[in-house]
Amino acid sequence: MDFTFKKYKELIQALKDNGYTFQTFEDFIKKPNDKVVVLRHDVDRRSKHSLDQGRDEVEVGAVGSYFFRIVPESNQPDVMNKIVDMGHELAYHYEDLGMARGNYEKAYELYKKNLTYFRKFYPVSTICMHGSPANSIDNRDIWKKYNYRDHDIIGEPYFDVDYDEVFYITDAGRMWNNRKVSVRDKVTTKFNFPLKTTDDIIKWIKSGELPNKLIINTHPHNWSNFGLLWVWILVWQSIKNLVKKVLILIKGQKSITVSDYKKTN
Ligand SMILES: [Zn+2]
Repeated sequence: MDFTFKKYKELIQALKDNGYTFQTFEDFIKKPNDKVVVLRHDVDRRSKHSLDQGRDEVEVGAVGSYFFRIVPESNQPDVMNKIVDMGHELAYHYEDLGMARGNYEKAYELYKKNLTYFRKFYPVSTICMHGSPANSIDNRDIWKKYNYRDHDIIGEPYFDVDYDEVFYITDAGRMWNNRKVSVRDKVTTKFNFPLKTTDDIIKWIKSGELPNKLIINTHPHNWSNFGLLWVWILVWQSIKNLVKKVLILIKGQKSITVSDYKKTN
């Protein structure tokens, strides 16, 4: 069974066994190790599931970076405190422009307020946009007007990583690197390692052909122990993916390139 916590632990164990070190996103931005993986987590909902992945990481001797949203299904103080206690990085998964319906001034005020809130739990130094597939607003657009570096933020994964050097793997839509079901969670890259299952990733890791620098992004709410919830997530994600495919077809959402933002920042 794929996308179980057991499978997740096998994945990070394989990374460790094959010489990858683990860094939080903030440490990676400051000074990346030679052979390294960043375990990035977008905690969109079912916040508690991040504790299972966090525990798996501790047991393997790894660290992860957990990006929390301000909404109650993600923002759970007891969960966030435990994530920090386990030694992981806590970061802000922002969606302020979408929440402010495109009003930049309002969005920026919200952003600063929310960042201050999350800094009660951890000295947050990195942020990452929430994709909001159903919203026509791209949350990254706020940085066309403002500069996130103004508030001691050192990194945003969509702007501060060279994906021709770092191989990016994401489970968006509960599938690995499936661009057809991902509205915004994609990057421009030269790498092409076909992968469908977590076992495929493990095979690539063992082959030694993967680049020395990886970022693996998981959405903890897509992972569970095998059981009723696992089946429910599978069914629900299949419906969502179908809708997203149609959305992408209709809107023809152009993927925004990093250079669009570098021009303004
Ligand atoms: Zn998200």
